[in-house]
Amino acid sequence: MPAPTVLFISRDNDPEAGQWLTALQAALPQTRLLSFEQADADARTTAQVAIVAVADTDKLSALPALRWVQSLWAGVESLLACPALANTPIVRMTDPGLSRTMAEAVLAWTLYLHRDMPAYRQAQTNAQWAPLPYRPAGDKTVGVLGCGELGRAALASLNQAGFQTRAWSRSARTLPGTQHFAGLQTLPDLLHACDILVNLLPATAATEKLLNRPRLACLPRGAALINFGRGSVLDDQALLAELDSGRLSHAVLDVFRDEPLPPDSPFWQHPSVTVLPHISAPTPVHSAAAAAAASNVRRFLQRGVIPTPVDRERGY
Ligand code: NAP
Repeated sequence: MPAPTVLFISRDNDPEAGQWLTALQAALPQTRLLSFEQADADARTTAQVAIVAVADTDKLSALPALRWVQSLWAGVESLLACPALANTPIVRMTDPGLSRTMAEAVLAWTLYLHRDMPAYRQAQTNAQWAPLPYRPAGDKTVGVLGCGELGRAALASLNQAGFQTRAWSRSARTLPGTQHFAGLQTLPDLLHACDILVNLLPATAATEKLLNRPRLACLPRGAALINFGRGSVLDDQALLAELDSGRLSHAVLDVFRDEPLPPDSPFWQHPSVTVLPHISAPTPVHSAAAAAAASNVRRFLQRGVIPTPVDRERGY
């Protein structure tokens, strides 16, 4: 019997496509892994599963036998919005390596804010010797929005570093070492206590501009924000107003409504903003991510099992 075909969908001229193909083919030795461009008409007509790096409507519409798709990324809002996948189950990337990378990033940038690095950088620029009062980590509260794969890993590393933590999500949870809040009505209770707020929420209809002016105003004076979830969760103008007034001290932003961040965005030049180019937790090629995707595909090819897809109603 010929080896089953699995297609890999990436953007044209994606510089990482070749590496992904190699890593995925190595993880799926019993299959014929082809890029969309390599696949002939027969392969495109018969492929039942595709591993997808980009929501390309034209390419995905050309696969009539598609039963489900495996996303290479944890965030799947663009795949959910893709008309070619309107009736196709979408399985997102979950990988312990990705969670570890995000937990490391959350801890790194929390420490950056906790130890006042933006202020000391500015003081050096002005040749100012200006020591600031020190508060130990145990006296500070870090709030995490989202307690999924990434939020839980981040909370564990923050707890280990000695911070007090609070966490918020839709449904009730018990999390070791963390005070948990569930549902919209409890969000102010979390915000009131946060010295540093970390957003790890997905982009959905319900999270659109969740962090608006009234909610940002619930944060204590001097609090700081880290946005590693999605840009759409934040009301940019509200954040700028809070930073300009000096009520919020700093924002570390890795995700934006428009990416790459346009050159005329006020965030680039703002003294109280650290801009990162969506790098807090990339899915690394050659990592366990290829193995995680391959394991899902293998179970489907051997036993017909489609992994649990993203819940379209909830949007994540
Ligand atoms: P996940 O496992 O699906 O967890 C999502 C969490 O958000 C869950 O705890 C969920 O609550 C909560 N949530 C969703 N909508 C909510 C709402 N309306 N109100 C309250 N809580 C809500 O996702 P994940 O793997 O942790 O990833 C989270 C997000 O991180 C991704 O969607 C992606 O956007 C982003 N991300 C960013 C990067 C980067 O490099 N910056 C990399 C990877 C991922 P329940 O637990 O109650 O369901």
